[in-house]
Amino acid sequence: MGALVYVEHHGSAPVKASLGVLAKAVKLFPDVAAIVCGSGVRELAGTLGAYGAATVYVADDEALSAPLPQPRVDVLERVLADHGVDTVLFGSSVLATDVAAGLAARTGGGLNWDLVDLRLENGRLVGTRPALQDSVYVDVGWKTAPRLALVRSGSFEPAQTGGSAPVVDVPVEVSEFSRAATLAGHESAESSGPAIEGAEVIVAGGRGLGSPDGFRLCEELAGALGGAVASTRAVVDSGWYPYSTQVGQTGKTVAPKLYVACGISGAIQHKVGMQGSGTIVAINKDRNAPIFDYCDLGIVGDLHAIVPRLTELVRQRKTG
Ligand SMILES: Cc1cc2nc3c(=O)[nH]c(=O)nc-3n(C[C@H](O)[C@H](O)[C@H](O)COP(=O)(O)OP(=O)(O)OC[C@H]3O[C@@H](n4cnc5c(N)ncnc54)[C@H](O)[C@@H]3O)c2cc1C
Repeated sequence: MGALVYVEHHGSAPVKASLGVLAKAVKLFPDVAAIVCGSGVRELAGTLGAYGAATVYVADDEALSAPLPQPRVDVLERVLADHGVDTVLFGSSVLATDVAAGLAARTGGGLNWDLVDLRLENGRLVGTRPALQDSVYVDVGWKTAPRLALVRSGSFEPAQTGGSAPVVDVPVEVSEFSRAATLAGHESAESSGPAIEGAEVIVAGGRGLGSPDGFRLCEELAGALGGAVASTRAVVDSGWYPYSTQVGQTGKTVAPKLYVACGISGAIQHKVGMQGSGTIVAINKDRNAPIFDYCDLGIVGDLHAIVPRLTELVRQRKTG
């Protein structure tokens, strides 16, 4: 029996969350296979050997051009049966969640979701899942096969192995009921800057910025550092910044190399979305703010004085 990683893609590029899950799977299982479903995705499939896949299954068909789950469930159900797969791992996304849930219902498999880690214990797969509003971690297992796992975005980093893998076409036979849903339209949320997913540097702003205008400070520092701007739920709920930038339990999980938190208290629900960052720098005027318990570098002071100075210094460094 074998392990399969579902690799989602945006346009012609695989998403980082899927590649991260693939990197983790390769450490746990021998001969991990990957699968790509879509239309015009054969070239993309050919790149996945370099990320550790031993075999890449490709379902390339016009019936899979819209990002709808049920046709993908049809494809995966068949691959599981034909290729002896008993474990399927997904990087979380709206589509992957629907596909995993549909596959669990179709096959009777067990599905664990929102996992932040995976390990093998005496050959048994064990997942780690945050619970009680992310204040504790619990171990979860599977009672039935196939074992299906949805992993929180940002939990694992992709790793290039430099290998290559055979690309195997799999049949695309979509059931009548799987064609019942059609995509009526597709609109992208307005973005105020570079996306935080995959950003190497993030400057995040919280209520300490004082007003929506305060985000200008974060935008300028992010611009100087070549990074993206993120936010907390408190400011998103106040309408100061778009939801697409929210980090945390009800937002996105990010893992940049550098995370600069400006005027953010560091509540547990925010922490769970950014604690995987390489270096965390916090600027807060309250020396007892919880974020100082887990940052790497803490600056106690007024961000309105510190952030512009920091931006200026970064710019000087770049031009000097
Ligand atoms: C179920 C649930 C889910 C949640 N999900 C999320 C989530 O996904 N993401 C998230 O972020 N939150 C989430 N929250 C909310 C979370 O609990 C906090 O309320 C929120 O993170 C606080 O945001 P904040 O740090 O911007 O604001 P505050 O907690 O108000 O902190 C503002 C900080 O700014 C500092 N400050 C003020 N003025 C200055 C200044 N001039 N210079 C420097 N520092 C200054 C203050 O000392 C303070 O520490 C969730 C809560 C619940 C209950």
